[in-house]
Amino acid sequence: MATPQENLLDWLRDAHAMEQQAENMLKAQSKRLEHYPELKARIDQHIEETHDHQKSIDECLTRLGGKSSSIKDLTGRLMAFGQAVGGSLMSDEVIKGAMAGYVFENVEIAAYRVLITAAKAAGDQETQTACERILHQEIAMAQWLLEHLPNLTEAFLARSADPDLEAKK
Ligand code: FE
Repeated sequence: MATPQENLLDWLRDAHAMEQQAENMLKAQSKRLEHYPELKARIDQHIEETHDHQKSIDECLTRLGGKSSSIKDLTGRLMAFGQAVGGSLMSDEVIKGAMAGYVFENVEIAAYRVLITAAKAAGDQETQTACERILHQEIAMAQWLLEHLPNLTEAFLARSADPDLEAKK
């Protein structure tokens, strides 16, 4: 068995690893993007937000007496590296990247909904408030990606059809 506090601590560690993976994925995408400045700017904004999420989760972990999991963090970094390398080999990496970003944001949204419920059960108002604030930024990023996918696809298709332009990034 485990108390709500213990489960909360586990899930905060998972969230810490998830946010590290988010940072690595976003940085890899931003670094490669050349022809889609609006997407790059939104990703850069979310990198800043992600740093803030990491800091907030760290503070929750410290307050609850836990430490972030370095093994999981390492796994996250390796996974992100694999995804970054995989993405760079695709002729439509900007589209696949935006789709993967949308999927990842939705995983984060689900994780923070779980954390908010666990924080409530554990009576941890500070963690609940922190996770609610983060959740809103993840929802905003997911919505932005979904709403901009049609425009992004049109821009990609136009560049792709022009022999003088590079479309993939
Ligand atoms: Fe996010």
